[in-house]
Amino acid sequence: AARKKGSGAYEVYHPEMMSRAVENTQMLAELSQAQNNDELLVYFQPIVNLSDSHIVGAEALIRWRSKAYGMVPPNVFIPLAEESGLILSIGRWILRESCRQLALKIQSGWPADFDIHINVSARQLMQADFYDLIVKTIGEFNLSPINLTLELTESLFVEKRTIITEQLERIRALGVSIAIDDFGSGFSSLSYLYRLKFDCLKIDRDFVSGVLENARSQAIISSVIRLASGLSVPLVAEGIETAEVAEQLRELGCPRGQGYYFGRPIPLNEWPIPIYDK
Ligand code: C2E
Ligand code: MG
Ligand code: MG
Ligand code: MG
Repeated sequence: AARKKGSGAYEVYHPEMMSRAVENTQMLAELSQAQNNDELLVYFQPIVNLSDSHIVGAEALIRWRSKAYGMVPPNVFIPLAEESGLILSIGRWILRESCRQLALKIQSGWPADFDIHINVSARQLMQADFYDLIVKTIGEFNLSPINLTLELTESLFVEKRTIITEQLERIRALGVSIAIDDFGSGFSSLSYLYRLKFDCLKIDRDFVSGVLENARSQAIISSVIRLASGLSVPLVAEGIETAEVAEQLRELGCPRGQGYYFGRPIPLNEWPIPIYDK
């Protein structure tokens, strides 16, 4: 049954609503239709320079507005999509839709080198033709590889390392950037930082939120700032919710940030023309 409210607003889906097994089977059935039913959306959140708040890019974040469940958060349905393999078609959709929307913006006067970040799952990178998909999608919309950054999580490097690394190197050789997402959480390891070439590091918001009160989180962030700077890649602090946290990170020397304080994820057509500073 639809849970759409009279106002047109959607309730947010909470996992407690159903028993896990039943929920997963039903949700998967719904999710497999989501693309056909036009229930998938992409929102974009600004990434900024902490020194002047100028925008350096935007992260594409998928949204599922389900007729059956309401708004389902990606943390609920992305794992389901990954387990089932649906992530392959959803991943193609988000890549194509993000590129399509960016191309329209560039046609309407946005900077031609505007950088969008797209989250990519291990399953996608294990496909031998992922490289071809990237080349094809960029070409289809007349974009350039410099318009694209792929965000990868560390868990990705636990599996099938060689295929993934090889493919990433080819993609990076095109001029597409690679960002390490959620750095410090999950399967942390310095060894992949050593092996894999990347262009941007994003530190997880778990460390960011405590930076005002907590000497431990400050020490961790300071050392990651030095790590990124030593590797000559920009560091993005995720989850900045207040001016105070932004200021503290700036003082510690963190170059970039992202979070509700600078802007929530919203549809690209609600964005003003960005003050862009790459
Ligand atoms: P992520 O890639 O680390 O994305 C950042 C998440 O932090 C987003 O959650 C964003 O809305 C949220 N966020 C941003 N600023 C703040 C803040 O100031 N405070 C708080 N509390 N949260 C903030 P979202 O959109 O719910 O996405 C969650 C995760 O789902 C993403 O984490 C990413 O791992 C995954 N995801 C989202 N879209 C995609 C996609 O298109 N493909 C894949 N494979 N995964 C995706
Ligand atoms: Mg991300
Ligand atoms: Mg992240
Ligand atoms: Mg995160």
